[in-house]
Amino acid sequence: MSKYVVKCTKCGDVQEPYALHCPNDDSLLRTEYSKKQIEPTDMPGIWRYIDWLPVNGIIEEGSGRPVTYKSEGFAKELGLQELYITFNGYWPEKGAFIRTCSFKDLESFPTMQRLIERNEERILVVASAGNTARAFAHVASITGRKLLLIVPEKSMHRLWTINDDTSSICTVTVKGDYYQAIAMAEKIAAKDGFVSEGGARNVARRDGMATVMLDAVLTTGSLPHHYFQAVGSGTGGISAWEASMRLLEDGRFGNNMPRLHLAQNMPCAPLYSLWTGTELTGHCPEEMHDDVLYNRKPPYSAPGGVKDALDDTNGLIYGITNKEAEDAQKLFEETEGIDILPAPGVACAALIKAVETGEINTGDSIVLNITGGGQKRLEEDFTTKKLDVTLTVSPNDPDSEKKILEKVSEFFNLGVY
Ligand SMILES: *Cc1c(COP(=O)(O)O)cnc(C)c1O
Repeated sequence: MSKYVVKCTKCGDVQEPYALHCPNDDSLLRTEYSKKQIEPTDMPGIWRYIDWLPVNGIIEEGSGRPVTYKSEGFAKELGLQELYITFNGYWPEKGAFIRTCSFKDLESFPTMQRLIERNEERILVVASAGNTARAFAHVASITGRKLLLIVPEKSMHRLWTINDDTSSICTVTVKGDYYQAIAMAEKIAAKDGFVSEGGARNVARRDGMATVMLDAVLTTGSLPHHYFQAVGSGTGGISAWEASMRLLEDGRFGNNMPRLHLAQNMPCAPLYSLWTGTELTGHCPEEMHDDVLYNRKPPYSAPGGVKDALDDTNGLIYGITNKEAEDAQKLFEETEGIDILPAPGVACAALIKAVETGEINTGDSIVLNITGGGQKRLEEDFTTKKLDVTLTVSPNDPDSEKKILEKVSEFFNLGVY
């Protein structure tokens, strides 16, 4: 029997393991593992949860995993008795070793491992406003796999690494916003010799992010009442829901489906807007506390997407202002003693709001996903260096595509274009 099958969430048809779509409809595909009870292994980093990752082998080096602990400081401040923090980042004192300081590593490692298992020789193309690019750069430099990053010029400050060898990474900056970078990446990825990783439709990404819920539940011994996370695409929310379904089926962790509390940063909050039916106006992503949370086309209504996840978990979405996020971030950092990225500050603010409005009870068990943190802590132990920019293009330049292809060919000595 194979380790897993990939099935359509709507019609249930089995697809090939690397498929991203069902031929019959628009739904997300989902992994079904033949092992119904997860056994954590002693393998490093995320591979502890390999039972429920769609891979057969591992990348030994460089991966970290979520680490769950019971909050004291922040919990006390909010009057909560059972607040568990699942920390994704660098905090060696807590056993947290994600070296890019965000949970995007949970996506990049399984995705890269699958490309290796598939003998994928094409160049992986990733468009990102920052944390995703950093996570893929990290795993590409460890494995030596060819990576083409396409990022908005303004996001370059997020493109750092602690690794020395970055010779397999070609970085192109676009003088424009995230959407212009994505549009450019889509054009390049459609060419021969390039492959894209699939985003929210990639089960390796989602099952990687699902390890947050796995770590929380295996640490505490039971499914929590509530799960809080800051979202842009909402993929992390879908993943938490999918992990919960598997853990319910596992049978050892209670029969409570955790309620999803997803937090978006106002006014750039399309999921909040879709869910509440309100229209939002603002300058996006400029007006945000953290622009990594901006995604104009989140997988909301596709079967198996964010809407289904909210409906099935009786979940809700919060609209968080910059001020609320800043204050919450500061309070968290002061009471827990670790720096966090701005995005998880939005989740902290949602938790504060939920306590204030009585949406949760003070005795409920809560998992707060800190999606990124410990960058200042990491800088005490490592030297970070910026990735080199190989080429800068303007989205208005009709030759930009050609320029990228030529540069990539030269960079990787392909001699094709
Ligand atoms: C990407 C990201 C998020 C949002 O993730 P989703 O894909 O919407 O689940 C939250 N926090 C950080 C730090 C991120 O990088």
